Amino acid sequence: MQELTHYINGAHVKGTSGRFTDVFNPATGEVQAKLPLANAAEMDAAVQAATAAQPAWAATNPQRRARVMMKFVGLLNDNMDKLAEALSREHGKTLPDAAGDVQRGLEVVEYCIGAPEMLKGDYTDSAGPGIDMYSMKQPLGVCAGITPFNFPAMIPMWMFAPAIACGNAFILKPSERDPSVPLMLAELMEEAGLPKGILQVVNGDKEAVDAILYHDVIQSVGFVGSTPIAEYIYGTGCGQGKRVQCFGGAKNHMIIMPDADMDQAADALIGAGYGAAGERCMAISVAVPVGDETADKLIEKLVPRIEALKVGPYTAGNDVDYGPVVTAAAKENILGLVQTGVDQGAELVVDGRDFNLQGYEDGFFVGAHLFDRVTPDMDIYRKEIFGPVLSCVRAQSYEEAIGLAMDHEYGNGTAIYTRDGDTARDFANRINIGMVGINVPIPVPLAYHTFGGWKKSAFGDLNQHGPDAFKFYTRTKTVTSRWPSGIKEGGEFNFKAME
Ligand code: NAD
Repeated sequence: MQELTHYINGAHVKGTSGRFTDVFNPATGEVQAKLPLANAAEMDAAVQAATAAQPAWAATNPQRRARVMMKFVGLLNDNMDKLAEALSREHGKTLPDAAGDVQRGLEVVEYCIGAPEMLKGDYTDSAGPGIDMYSMKQPLGVCAGITPFNFPAMIPMWMFAPAIACGNAFILKPSERDPSVPLMLAELMEEAGLPKGILQVVNGDKEAVDAILYHDVIQSVGFVGSTPIAEYIYGTGCGQGKRVQCFGGAKNHMIIMPDADMDQAADALIGAGYGAAGERCMAISVAVPVGDETADKLIEKLVPRIEALKVGPYTAGNDVDYGPVVTAAAKENILGLVQTGVDQGAELVVDGRDFNLQGYEDGFFVGAHLFDRVTPDMDIYRKEIFGPVLSCVRAQSYEEAIGLAMDHEYGNGTAIYTRDGDTARDFANRINIGMVGINVPIPVPLAYHTFGGWKKSAFGDLNQHGPDAFKFYTRTKTVTSRWPSGIKEGGEFNFKAME
């Protein structure tokens, strides 16, 4: 059995806490590795190494730091297949989807190559007589990030690339479900020229997270995961005086207007609802057709598409639409929620409960489900299912449809399908949700914009990546300087003009 490690001060380090957890291959259900769970002393070792390394890194000019990012991008591309395979083996997502996971992280690294431009300060000449004023953006010091299982490459890079480009040291506590890619990323960053101690990976669970939250030296905490944990980390971290940003769960609605292209809407729902087995914070889990006629047409188009979905292991390459969910517990939770949907009176139009994949009976595969006539009081509507389950809530008007999305406690992403610019514009303006798609089902902003939800989907003031990341990972120092006039006349170094 493979025993995974931490990555501390430039070296793979075995766990010393004596606590381990199993890392599964979700396609087969087999345990493929043991992962050490760090205690506070192990976290402290990483903090010490970070503290020793960070001042020299902060003093390295930003262009040299950016060159490490440039080289890292090259290494990510060179190692794309290896990274995608390792990611799929632990997460379960298909190989093309795993490569996309790496790619969307890589794009933020590319954006961070522009750090010298982003870190330029402001300057006011002659703010008063002989007075100049300037602001510098300085690194925070030692930063930490806690990441979820569903994007084990992208989300760590969204955090560590800007943090490091800004001159900080970064300690990553990745998900204990799929830790191998984060370890590989740390190795590649050092191959790209990053000094040891600047990016470290400390594996663990709540104990390691608490060691971060209560460590005096750690200045900032970034978190992405479920909302209850986001609330805990935000509250505790802020209480400890740290700068914290936390991104939580989601329940993303897609509104389908009667004038929408119904084939386009159905295709979008298939990808956004069932891609990655629904384990995306930007997955569409609620379809809201407006009017019964629209709903009937939509369901008619969805059913054959859902029944044709190919579910299988990542080893099937491109020949599979989605893979297993991440753990047996996740599977059990999804099927439990499906049962509550049935019990509470929703109409299960496509029933994936009996799904079985020959040869992979122990894998954590879940068949695709479609519910119709879901109502807002049902558990399957209120809770995040995080599986291949799409719920259709029929609305009788646009106002009712937008009201559903507005009243839901989550506010990560949403989409509207319509041919009418006026409706689309009104939707974009009024909706209280952070990321909006107009005829785009998964509106994940590109690296140079920012990513973040509203309501119970995010806690903190700044979003991830884009210009916000440079604000989150720096603090401003403003210098007011006055040089007494007349000094320049103190010496006589000039050639005297002939009189
Ligand atoms: P999770 O909350 O279970 O775990 C996230 C991280 O928190 C992991 O590193 C885990 O080790 C740690 N953790 C777990 N329990 C903890 C505890 N009791 N105390 C302290 N730390 C703890 O989330 P997950 O299952 O890995 O990821 C799925 C969730 O993440 C979904 O809710 C999804 O919507 C959300 N997500 C949100 C975004 C976003 O940007 N809003 C992006 C991706 C995923």
